[in-house]
Order: sequence, then C-alpha cells, then structure tokens
Amino acid sequence: MRKTDHNRGKQDRPSFIRKSKRDKFEVIGKETDVYKCRDCKKVYNQKHFHIAQNDNFGRARLKTTCKFCYNRDRNVRRAMASNLPPITEFCEGGCERKSSEHKLYNDHCKKTGKHRGWLCHSCNTGAGHFGDDHKGITRIANYLKERSFK
Ligand SMILES: [Zn+2]
Ligand SMILES: [Zn+2]
Repeated sequence: MRKTDHNRGKQDRPSFIRKSKRDKFEVIGKETDVYKCRDCKKVYNQKHFHIAQNDNFGRARLKTTCKFCYNRDRNVRRAMASNLPPITEFCEGGCERKSSEHKLYNDHCKKTGKHRGWLCHSCNTGAGHFGDDHKGITRIANYLKERSFK
C-alpha cells in the first residue's frame, strides 16, 4: 500500500496499549486523553470509551459514545430483539411493498426504544431523513402540499 502524507501523519500520532480480558489493543492517542460523548455530552477519560475498530496500521479507534451510553443502547436493542412482533405481510409505512419481496426493518422509537413497526428500506430511511418524527414529516408534507401545482 502506498503511504500518502495523510497516512504518514496518522502513523506519527502517539498511541498506547490498552488490555482487555481477551485482547490487547494499540489505541491512538494518550492514556490521559479525554473525549466528549456524542450522546450524553459528558467528558470522560478515554478508558470509558469502547474500542471501535482498527485503522490501517492496526491501531484502534474509540467509539464516539461513552461506554455508559453505548451499553445502555445495547441493552435496549437486545431487549427489543427478544420481544418483536412477527414481520407483517406489507410495509407498515403504507407504501404497499410486500415483505416477501422487500426486506422489512425493525423501526423503533429512538426515545423509548420501543418497536414502532416494520418498514421497508425506503420508508425507514425516508422517515429518518425528516427527523424520524411526525413534526419533521408534517413540515415537508405541508411544503409539498402548498407548493405543488395541481
Ligand atoms: Zn455518554
Ligand atoms: Zn414502505
């Protein structure tokens, strides 16, 4: 692999070794580094962030949410997965796509973690683009209603 200037810069950054029960990781940064959690916005020492993935030089990055937020979300996801209603015949977003022809996704409320319905890819990502709530969709729906030519 050709080393670009960009990659060389990464390689020069300091790193340290973090040991877990099963593994050892070379983590980019310093042991004293602190990061702000993307979720709770609290600042914690790097050890409160899980290992995310390795970069090109086998060095680990850290997740952008702290381990407290990450673990809480993981538990929500697990609890939900064991308690899902069966997949419906049609996408519940009302687009009439059939589950026999399209993969339906478990749409869940980000605030409560509760399953909302089974949505096709289009309905699921579409809702996400408009804020994943009624307010966002209504805003753009009103725009389309008012500005479209009949
Ligand atoms: Zn957090
Ligand atoms: Zn749909």
